Amino acid sequence: MSTYDYDLITIGAGSGGVAASRRAAALGARVAICEGDRVGGTCVIRGCVPKKLMMYASQFADAFEDAPGYGWSLGAPEFDLATLIGAKNKETERLEGIYRTMLDNARVTLLEGNGCLVDAHTVSVGGRHITAEYILIATGGKPSHPPIEGLELAVDSNGLLDMTEQPRRLLVLGAGYIGIEFAGIFAGLGSEVTVAYRGDLPLRGFDHDIRTRLATAMTDRGITLADGFSTTRLEKTNAGIVCHSKEGRTITADAVLSALGRSPNTDGLGLAEAGVRMDPSSGAIEVTPDSRTSVANIYAVGDVTDRAALTPVAIAEGRAFAESIFGDTPRVVDHSLIATAVFSQPPIGTIGLSEEAARAAGHEVTVFEADFRPMKHVLAGRAERAYMKLVVDTESDKVLGAHLIGADSGEMIQALAVAITMGATKADLDRTIAVHPTAAEELVLMRTPRGA
Ligand code: NDP
Repeated sequence: MSTYDYDLITIGAGSGGVAASRRAAALGARVAICEGDRVGGTCVIRGCVPKKLMMYASQFADAFEDAPGYGWSLGAPEFDLATLIGAKNKETERLEGIYRTMLDNARVTLLEGNGCLVDAHTVSVGGRHITAEYILIATGGKPSHPPIEGLELAVDSNGLLDMTEQPRRLLVLGAGYIGIEFAGIFAGLGSEVTVAYRGDLPLRGFDHDIRTRLATAMTDRGITLADGFSTTRLEKTNAGIVCHSKEGRTITADAVLSALGRSPNTDGLGLAEAGVRMDPSSGAIEVTPDSRTSVANIYAVGDVTDRAALTPVAIAEGRAFAESIFGDTPRVVDHSLIATAVFSQPPIGTIGLSEEAARAAGHEVTVFEADFRPMKHVLAGRAERAYMKLVVDTESDKVLGAHLIGADSGEMIQALAVAITMGATKADLDRTIAVHPTAAEELVLMRTPRGA
């Protein structure tokens, strides 16, 4: 019988922490989880879920615009941001309740308060000291605030999700996942949106053909892209918030979103004092492939480890940890093939190597592409196109990467990810019968390599 209060204490009740705790409890462990904020973490409370609800709201703009082509006549639609934010808040409260019930049903003790390591087996929560054989750090991440003068005039994604007064002009700083998604959302809701970023195209690291098509689609939707813009200073003037760049350009807006990356949440956890090593440049907790930190009984999963800052990855890491320690199925998560979606408008779905990364890794590649106007757009009179690309290893015929932009790309990539994770070859896709009429059928109908 263990002399500790619990077998596991998890610090942080977000996606990774909750998944790990529930799985550990299901395997018979005595588990407590502490949380100083709302249960559910970034994904449920201030990330994926509320963002997706706002994206749905924003997409009505397309439906209203397209409807007359299909015979509908509508009055002038009106939008009220405060109503949407109220409905969104109600839904996140409902989901938080579900998370609490799930912990309860799993017999995981919820300790409300910030957890802090006292030593390798002790966590203090609200002045109480609790001991456990294992400790799991799952505290997630937070918006980064690079040293830009006046950046406090901007809101981060947390602030934007609670904004009830719609800005007429929104300036988004950064063109990563968050910047691109919110730019599309607020443009759809009727704001004039500018995205300013230091690179030449949005979404650094994504396949180049996806990036160029995204830039075209955003511009066609009325979003201004200010590339090569390195923000140095923000100031409040009578005309609005003025953002200055190193190159001497300025952009004025009513609200500014700072979407300049996220950093691991490691402050105030007593990590260094307990001997938990962190990466000096990123601040992330250093872990082995099985999520163990430099202290043998302390583990860490999710964004705080900065491996891939994605909810399903945190969940997978949390479950693998629980099964390895409290079950008899030790395993590590394979981070080499992760499908992901960017909820831009139109959305992006991607898995595996970009064409550039495949070539850089020494593969000889054959590229297959489909570039078409979706059937739905024809009667609507919408010019927007969809694009799909398969990056195939010429020698083995294995699909190394798939990159899609167009309606439902996030849904399609999930299904395709199964095949690619199983090691699908291009021949496997070729012998798959198409589902007609869909956009997804193009994935199995690409016959001619680019340039042939
Ligand atoms: P990203 O890393 O995706 O993008 C950050 C952006 O900020 C980039 O344009 C980057 O430019 C820029 N940037 C960073 N630092 C500076 C700086 N000092 N000065 C100027 N520009 C800077 O971060 P996000 O905040 O958008 O998202 C964080 C993570 O959250 C994502 O990586 C993703 O893992 C996750 N996420 C996932 C979502 C999904 O699955 N749909 C949705 C939202 C978030 P550059 O490229 O030049 O470095």
